[in-house]
Amino acid sequence: MTKILILGGGFGGVRAALDLEKKLGDRGDVEITLVDKNDSQTFFPSLYEVASIYGIDHQHPFHTKLRGTVSIPFSDIFKNKKINLIQAEINHLDIQNKHVVTSNGATLDFDYLVLALGSVVSTFGVPGADEYAFKFKTIEDGLMLNDKIEELYIEASEKKRPLPINILIGGAGFNGVELAAELSNCTVHIACSHKITQQNCSAIALVEAGPAILPMISGKERDLIQKRLEKLGINLLVNSPIQEIGPDFIKLKNGNYLKGDLIIWSGGVKALDIFRTVDSLELDDRGRIFVNEFLQTKNYPNIFAVGDNIVFIDPKTQKPIPQMAFLAIEQGRVTAENIARIINGSSELKKHKPAYDVWIIPVGGKNAVVHLGKFTFSGFFGYLLREFVDLRYFLTILPFFKALKIFFRGVTVFSKND
Ligand SMILES: Cc1cc2nc3c(=O)[nH]c(=O)nc-3n(C[C@H](O)[C@H](O)[C@H](O)COP(=O)(O)OP(=O)(O)OC[C@H]3O[C@@H](n4cnc5c(N)ncnc54)[C@H](O)[C@@H]3O)c2cc1C
Repeated sequence: MTKILILGGGFGGVRAALDLEKKLGDRGDVEITLVDKNDSQTFFPSLYEVASIYGIDHQHPFHTKLRGTVSIPFSDIFKNKKINLIQAEINHLDIQNKHVVTSNGATLDFDYLVLALGSVVSTFGVPGADEYAFKFKTIEDGLMLNDKIEELYIEASEKKRPLPINILIGGAGFNGVELAAELSNCTVHIACSHKITQQNCSAIALVEAGPAILPMISGKERDLIQKRLEKLGINLLVNSPIQEIGPDFIKLKNGNYLKGDLIIWSGGVKALDIFRTVDSLELDDRGRIFVNEFLQTKNYPNIFAVGDNIVFIDPKTQKPIPQMAFLAIEQGRVTAENIARIINGSSELKKHKPAYDVWIIPVGGKNAVVHLGKFTFSGFFGYLLREFVDLRYFLTILPFFKALKIFFRGVTVFSKND
């Protein structure tokens, strides 16, 4: 029996598993297994909606309906597929002996391994960031942020906290920008729900170490987004590296102090520490695995890696490609093709040719900037395109009615977020 083991059921891992099943599922001599610590895939692109939702029952301990908009059950994705699903946390890789170990001590053997474990927040050693800043990487992070905002406005309505509420967001990449834009809307509604009538109920600042927000996009689109953020009243502080974060402040390297009722860290991600325990994997300074053009790890042609946990150097620019969901999906696809080719006896592998001059940034309410190669769309049309892209993704991994169900659940739950 040839055993294919996929670690991680995110965008890359799920695509690899589904494509492998399509290509090899009918062969009785191949076994495909996917392991994830959760029972569902997190749909990160809508996480900012969770953080900025208003009008929900904050006493509800599980937020079941809200979670259902951003988590896609594996049981739905893999229903009737010849894929073994194991819910377990991986905490040891024994590459030499071709097995991995789960946190409950089980050993899983493999002939082919796909590493698709995503990323975790990195605070890059900024003092106080781990202790005092809210993170924005999981559903729990989104819910905790939302609860905190509610709590701050309750305190303000009881005159225990002055207005405006100061929100400081460290890091003006895609996530920081989306979150800032969305929070500027949601705070108005949350304040209203607590009978706060003051107009400027929040003061949001985006704090960026580099010379510009969104360093990965071109000047024209950056200007467009910058104007939108300024219209929403967001203060953009560039060239402002953070030296320290405290319970209610950010200290900048230039000596300035910013006062914050809520501090959010959106400064970057790194790969899981688990890879550092494997000497023979080549890693960059963020612990991400170097892969070749076929997405194989160096030294191990039977071990592939995809998504946020890799460094893929673009042959055109000689720079690492960004960490985006659609690139992880494409890498899952290429990996499945290559494993199938090897198992079927082919020596010619498919190259990963990343195309990433496309992105979408929701910028508050029903407004998004969508960049598709030469074309850029913004406003409500951008928002509609974004919704279409989400639906398209659900349709690629779920049966038709399940895809529609999760899409419309999101539309109805988040439709108030305007
Ligand atoms: C808030 C936010 C918004 C984003 N918005 C966008 C967007 O709009 N567009 C876009 O293209 N990209 C977006 N991204 C980036 C995108 O989500 C990632 O690039 C993408 O998820 C990477 O896919 P992946 O398969 O590598 O990892 P992930 O999707 O993160 O999946 C990794 C999986 O591994 C599992 N896992 C982790 N550790 C273990 C372990 N030890 N044992 C077992 N399982 C484990 C996790 O449970 C998870 O299911 C966003 C990211 C965030 C955080």
